[in-house]
Amino acid sequence: MSRLCHIYPILMVRIDESWIFIMMPVKILMVEDEAAIREMVCFTITQAGYQVFEAGCVADARIAIADSVPDLILLDWMLPDVSGIEYARTLKKEEMTRHIPIIMLTARGDELDKIRGLDMGADDYITKPFSVKELQARIKAVLRRTSPLLTEDVIDIDGLRLDISSHRVTANDTSLEMGPTEFRLLHFFMTHAERVFSRGQLLDRVWGGNVYIDERTVDVHIRRLRKALESEHYDRYVQTVRGSGYRFSTKV
Ligand code: CA
Repeated sequence: MSRLCHIYPILMVRIDESWIFIMMPVKILMVEDEAAIREMVCFTITQAGYQVFEAGCVADARIAIADSVPDLILLDWMLPDVSGIEYARTLKKEEMTRHIPIIMLTARGDELDKIRGLDMGADDYITKPFSVKELQARIKAVLRRTSPLLTEDVIDIDGLRLDISSHRVTANDTSLEMGPTEFRLLHFFMTHAERVFSRGQLLDRVWGGNVYIDERTVDVHIRRLRKALESEHYDRYVQTVRGSGYRFSTKV
């Protein structure tokens, strides 16, 4: 199993009695109005194995996030519609986006000082011009710090243990049986705990972006997942958030 920090296994298919793991890349949203910088960054971080989607202004970023919640956001300070700072504040306030790490891009050192002084919730800062190497190092460090479980083969939350390589889930050492979709769903939830996802976002992240499945399918698999977790009372961690979607949370 690869332990590259920016790629994690999420999709599994069964071929001749064995599970094949398909590595799904970490999703990064790049919000930057200067097309040349945006293209350069997008090109190089795509080469590094990340999946990047881009926005030239905050309005476009909002549309992109509604469509697919990223694992990390690169956010420019000077944007044409809303300032990066203001937008970062909004992102850190909203339930759906507050856990997404943000790296602010600034043009000058004095902007950097201002951002630090304002403490608006960015997880890291980088001053333009920056080298691609520097940016990649920052991305890796931020992901390692903010989403360490994305890189783990075995995830243990409060006694619920998911082992990716053996495709096993145990709860307090009792083996729990579940189908491949429920396993994938649980893996996604455990690596994105305490965050709310809409049905559409779960379809995008767990089933894959290009599938056309009714959103009610998500409810069916949520029910199955809860049933699989029920005997050891972990079903209460899979929570319905009225009007928004679902969340995996240890706070019950
Ligand atoms: Ca700009």
